[in-house]
Amino acid sequence: MPSRRERVYRTRAVILKRREQGEADRVLTIFTPEYGKRAVIAKGVRKPTSRKAGHLEPFTHVSLMLARGKTWDIVTGAQTVTSFRKLREDLDLTAYAYYFCELLDAFVQEDDPHPELYELLLNAFRRLEVSPDPALTGRWYELALLQHAGFAPQLFHCVQCGERIQPVTNYFSHERGGVLCPKHGEGASDAQPIPLNTLKVLRYIQSQPYNHIMRLQLSPGSMRQVEKLMGDYLRFLLERRLKSKQFIHLLRK
Ligand SMILES: [Zn+2]
Repeated sequence: MPSRRERVYRTRAVILKRREQGEADRVLTIFTPEYGKRAVIAKGVRKPTSRKAGHLEPFTHVSLMLARGKTWDIVTGAQTVTSFRKLREDLDLTAYAYYFCELLDAFVQEDDPHPELYELLLNAFRRLEVSPDPALTGRWYELALLQHAGFAPQLFHCVQCGERIQPVTNYFSHERGGVLCPKHGEGASDAQPIPLNTLKVLRYIQSQPYNHIMRLQLSPGSMRQVEKLMGDYLRFLLERRLKSKQFIHLLRK
């Protein structure tokens, strides 16, 4: 790995997000396999004559030349590897792609490499581009991200007693990161009932290959329940993360 002191370096990256800076510049948040997340500046990129602009769109997989800078490293060259154009042209897919980036952004620290999450994001973009069911691809991505980040919910055994979960109404605890059997979940202040069908769907997505997952035919109601449980759990983890330094250490396991 090149040392922090080298003046110029090359890396592959995915553009997670960007914002305007000054008259004609943009600050990009990039995610790289070697350095993790990093904010860099693309100077003059909003000028119509910029040759770099087309390579620095959101979600683009790009090969970058960077020079060390004071506040931000500076993009000196950019070449598209994969444009993922469809993710920018289809509004529905754009919303999902932004969400994938935001979720990753929220779970990783700057300069903390997670090559497996980098591969996951690229894979998620490839799958999203051709997905017959982007919502299902979204749920797969959420569970895969949690798995890689060390926060996969326990869905097969009670998080209190370790007993195998039976096909009845069980309970889910955000705090304890998984399912509780009826004996330990009923009346627990941190747990709420999880419908059997929601649990089955989550287990399937967590444990089966992607092409099998995509064959699932869920009713809109089931999909909403799965989406809500995942959304609530992710919000809980991210809120706690803001409060707890320990969370950050765990992520670096
Ligand atoms: Zn139990």
